[in-house]
Parts: sequence; C-alpha cells; structure tokens
Amino acid sequence: MQCELCGNEGFKCFPSNVDGVRMMLCPGCMKYGKSINEKKEIRPNVTKSIKTIIKRKIVRDVYVGMDRELISNWSESIKNARIEKELSREELGFRIGERTVTVAKIENGDLRPSDKIAEKIEKELSISLFEKVKEIPTKISSNHSSGLTLGDFIKTEEK
Ligand SMILES: [Zn+2]
Repeated sequence: MQCELCGNEGFKCFPSNVDGVRMMLCPGCMKYGKSINEKKEIRPNVTKSIKTIIKRKIVRDVYVGMDRELISNWSESIKNARIEKELSREELGFRIGERTVTVAKIENGDLRPSDKIAEKIEKELSISLFEKVKEIPTKISSNHSSGLTLGDFIKTEEK
C-alpha cells in the first residue's frame, strides 16, 4: 500500500484525518494526521448481531414454553378409547409393554403416565393425549399480563 502523503510504499497504512481530509498514512506520517477510529464504522454491525442474539434467545425461550402437556381428562380418554377398541386392560398393557395393574392405575387416574407410555397409548388407541401449552414463560408473563408481542419484548430488552 502506498502512503498518500509521502508516497512511500511497503508500509501498512492507516486511515487518518489530515486537516479534515481522510488519507491513508504510513506509520512515519501518522504524526501529521489524526488517526480515524474505524471502530465507529464497525459498530452498527455489532449492534445488529447483539439484537440477533437477543432475538434468538427469546425465540428459544418461547419455544421451550410452548410445551405439551397431558390433557386434563387423560384417564377418561384412555379408558373410553380402550373400550371403543374392544381391548381389555391386559391387552392394552401387553401392547404398550406395561403391566395390567399399571393400565388400571392410569385409567383410574391414580398413575400419571410418563410421556413415553402416553405416546404408546396414543399410538395403540389412535387418540391424542397431549395438548400444546400456550403459556408464555413466566419470565415474560410475570411482568406483562397480556397483549405483549415478541417485538415489544425485544424493545424492552434494548432499553
Ligand atoms: Zn508516509
């Protein structure tokens, strides 16, 4: 690179302000100008990437919050679906790899089936035992009762 002041080549030149004119100066000529802080020009990108990180984090939190949960009347649903399919508790238990007593407990509401068992039951009985939980994570919902969009939350974060 060639120094715009002395014309010397072979030096690494830096942007400098010489009497209001931006020039590339070699280290030897730097004293004639005022070094321009290039960081100012880079900054907008940095801000943007921080925004992206914040946004990503929120999206992930919301996603985690969009969890599924067993429907409230799971015991009833399982029992009704099993009877409809004309399966005995023994047969259903055999199909899902659980003991008859486990099936009985689940149908009586005494035992909350694990996700794994519930999924097997869903498959065997062709029913849906899960519902999406629409609740926003407590972190957001605790401060704002309603009507808060993702955009509003990002704005809040930037303050
Ligand atoms: Zn120079």
